[in-house]
Amino acid sequence: MAEKDVNTMKISPVVWKNGEVIKWDDARVHVMTHALHYGSSVFEGIRCYETSQGSAVFRLTEHIQRLLNSAKIYRMDTRFTRDEICNATVDLIRESGLESCYIRPVVFRGLDEDKPSFGVYGLLNPIETYIAMWQWGKYLGEEALENGIDVCVSSWTRITSNSMPAMAKAGANYMNSQLIKMEAKQLGFAEGIALDDRGLVSEGSGENIFLVNNGKLYTPALGASILPGITRDSIIQIAREMGIEVIETAVQRAALYIADELFFTGTAAEISPIRSVDHIKVGSGKRGPITEAIQKEFFAIIDATRPAPNNAPWLTFVGEAGEKKTAVA
Ligand code: PMP
Repeated sequence: MAEKDVNTMKISPVVWKNGEVIKWDDARVHVMTHALHYGSSVFEGIRCYETSQGSAVFRLTEHIQRLLNSAKIYRMDTRFTRDEICNATVDLIRESGLESCYIRPVVFRGLDEDKPSFGVYGLLNPIETYIAMWQWGKYLGEEALENGIDVCVSSWTRITSNSMPAMAKAGANYMNSQLIKMEAKQLGFAEGIALDDRGLVSEGSGENIFLVNNGKLYTPALGASILPGITRDSIIQIAREMGIEVIETAVQRAALYIADELFFTGTAAEISPIRSVDHIKVGSGKRGPITEAIQKEFFAIIDATRPAPNNAPWLTFVGEAGEKKTAVA
């Protein structure tokens, strides 16, 4: 099937819905869908790259495991196993006709139209699982990866873990992210960094953050209100393999201003250098050498031109129908 082209954005014409493949145009929900009113959705963002050895999904298993973890926190039973969702994703990419894409699995509380339930409670609403995909370029712009971006510290506090667990990738968390992102953009910055309820650095609206100081890498620990980013984990492993010390710790706001280098990590943002925070130049005001060296290794891994640390199976090749699907780069 040819891919759907909406305003030059290539979108998969097929969507996976609860075990079936349906058309993009049929992937619709009722206005009284629980998630629309109460934020009851969890989701993932995954990239499939066109590598030197064919299309491959980056850390698919880890992303789907995080999806199931997010669902479990919110008492949502998808009925599908991790392997079933992984296989469905790979099959759908093949059917989509896309060589590279951004993959969006989403699990949410829907509406049973025969037995409608409209309250907050949610456990009476059916759980729906969908996977959609489209071609998505560089999230923070093409030049961002090389030149870096200008960011601010947000006036909004990051959601706190015993009210909205940042550990779950829940749709509702992104109301907080939207406040951070909208404020930053309207002030002329590319992105905002949120502090947590203790005033310590947490993360960007959709990225984890790393600081470089005297050749060492620092990043807020998982105890802070952050999403346990899969790119974050990948960078920690890559850096340690390169012999760079990585310290997961509490990071003060002021440490951002005096860092030698700063960068964001995320599936959409990949590794994006930060060249200023609150108009204060970071280091030399352009991408630093350690950021560049880590980017180089990361991009080689996602291009399948070098293996992942410890030969871990970070790439799942899409291959042809009927081919073995998982291979180590
Ligand atoms: N933090 C937030 C709030 C995010 O939305 C994302 C993107 N999923 C990240 C961090 C980075 O996570 P990952 O590297 O798994 O994409």
